[in-house]
Amino acid sequence: MNELREDGFLKERLDMVEYQLRRRGIRDPRVLAAMARVPRHLFVPPQLRGEACADYPLPIGAGQTISQPYIVARMTEALELNGTEKVLEIGTGSGYQTAILAELAREVCTVERIPELSEEAGERLSSLGYTNVRFLVGDGTLGVPEEAPFDRIIATASLPRIPNALLAQLADYGIIVAPIGGRGFQRLLKLRKSGDGFEEIELGECRFVPIIGKEGW
Ligand code: SAH
Repeated sequence: MNELREDGFLKERLDMVEYQLRRRGIRDPRVLAAMARVPRHLFVPPQLRGEACADYPLPIGAGQTISQPYIVARMTEALELNGTEKVLEIGTGSGYQTAILAELAREVCTVERIPELSEEAGERLSSLGYTNVRFLVGDGTLGVPEEAPFDRIIATASLPRIPNALLAQLADYGIIVAPIGGRGFQRLLKLRKSGDGFEEIELGECRFVPIIGKEGW
């Protein structure tokens, strides 16, 4: 999936990449290319297609949202993907972030608690030709022990703290990126597992819908 396809929304995507991502500091060329490629308009409800590349999150049904393009890029860049990684995503939602991960990593395992969203995202990604994604329905705060270890873990909904289960399922030198904090707004955190400890980097403030689960809200 390397081609930049003219599908009626290519100009919107290229403008999104230039004005919302590159000029705001997103540098990883693979992330910029993936965001230019993935047809974001196919991940929002049909009546919102014209707004798909706008600089804000959009509703995707079931009270959930597809994240703002900049946030997707920022979190993906922080994962430092080179194409060899096995990634766990918590919060499949529309599957947009999942598709970006599938473009940039070896393998993606994505967990969603709302079955209909998982099913729709699965259909969307298979019709787009992705074959390296496994869709699971359940509570992602527990991770997926039978698929661990993961080289990268990303949560696309907010957590009060990073669940121990996720820390335990992260490979050595692996990275977790997640919005951590209160229900209103959070700090985007990047944790790198190094030896017996964790290095923590704060990436700024953000606003996500809450994770609902055993280690969530
Ligand atoms: N990455 C998504 C945005 C998802 S919004 C996209 O690009 O569209 C966050 C998602 O997390 C919602 O779909 C919500 O249902 C899901 N979620 C909330 N709690 C969860 C949990 N414990 N396990 C898995 N998914 C969860």
